[in-house]
Amino acid sequence: MSINQQSYAYGASKSSIREIAAYGAARKAQIGAENVFDFSLGNPSVPAPDAVRDSIAHALTLPATALHGYTPANGLPAAREAVARSLNRRFDTGYTADDLYLTCGAAASISIVLNAVCNKGEEVVVIAPYFPEYRVFIENAGATCVEVMANADTFQIDVPAVVAAITERTAAVMIDSPNNPVGSVYAQENLVELAHALKECSATYGHPIYLISDEPYREIAYDVEVPWVPSLYDYTLVCYSYSKSLSLPGERIGWVLVPNTNPDRDQLVPAVAGAGRKLGFVCAPALFQRVLIDCVDVPANIEAYQRNRQALTQGLSKIGYEFIEPQGAFYLWMRALEPDANAFFERAKRLELLPVPSDSFGCPGWVRVGYCVSYETIVNSMPAWQELWNSYH
Ligand code: PLP
Repeated sequence: MSINQQSYAYGASKSSIREIAAYGAARKAQIGAENVFDFSLGNPSVPAPDAVRDSIAHALTLPATALHGYTPANGLPAAREAVARSLNRRFDTGYTADDLYLTCGAAASISIVLNAVCNKGEEVVVIAPYFPEYRVFIENAGATCVEVMANADTFQIDVPAVVAAITERTAAVMIDSPNNPVGSVYAQENLVELAHALKECSATYGHPIYLISDEPYREIAYDVEVPWVPSLYDYTLVCYSYSKSLSLPGERIGWVLVPNTNPDRDQLVPAVAGAGRKLGFVCAPALFQRVLIDCVDVPANIEAYQRNRQALTQGLSKIGYEFIEPQGAFYLWMRALEPDANAFFERAKRLELLPVPSDSFGCPGWVRVGYCVSYETIVNSMPAWQELWNSYH
């Protein structure tokens, strides 16, 4: 008998993003926060909207037993209804509270969905570069993570490459748009092409290939439409969280949607509930379920990110850096100035610049610059980015 080796391995080898963030925090304590330019973590610097505070204040007037008590495992009906109504207004759909399962954020939503659709030995295709925790969640669901590189020029989904990676063991394809780490938004035509290909592959292998659409950045998009994926492919499940849109990452609140248009809905709804039960992911934080009732339609503070994005892209392009123009989320995907992104990162680190090397996301040669930091951090970092550039030229 021994401890679980898979769990040990995940715990012993920490996420490199968190390691960089921990280094950044230690370095700030050493030399002062204003001297460290930490672009590592996707932790919004934009405060949660006032409406959230008002809603919490209102909730505190409830009797404590009601406020702090268990809710149904899938969440308060009123909170699920509020989310369903909001989605219906925005996407012209007819969802009900029964289609939603409230969760402790997108991480829980993804784990639940993977445990709902995967059997041991099956495969899940992810589009690289990708959020590194996907691999952990997929392997925990007993499946294998199959990486498919995005189109090298556009970072849109390379649909022929996805088709080539699909086998009879493929349970699902997982996408994330607006994308972490690239900041791209998958275009309608790209998603239609994927939907068409998945229909064909499902027919070939005689079982549906589910599309898991992880969308924590849906509301953070700059002048582009983020297509509603279930309208394009029936066998879609959606994972969402308010960590980014309402700046509530520490409160752990989100949801899984099994659209009532999904032909497998009658199987999937209990499977999602069962996965939540199996993982112990029941009864999402009750206070924040109540906040959703008041705040589902409160807009994200897109102006703050837009201002940061402009300062960062203008500053870096003036120096000469090459990057993918971000359409959404709050990450900039920038080409490293040498093929080895880790070596580039080490050189940046010496100048107190902390981006994340792209190898962490399953793709060599780039870095992710998270611009959910303060505006001042971006502006004040420019001399260091210039010095880094000069050191290569
Ligand atoms: N999915 C993506 C693409 C993310 O970037 C993140 C967090 O950064 C998550 C999921 C997890 O989100 P949450 O904090 O809501 O669990």
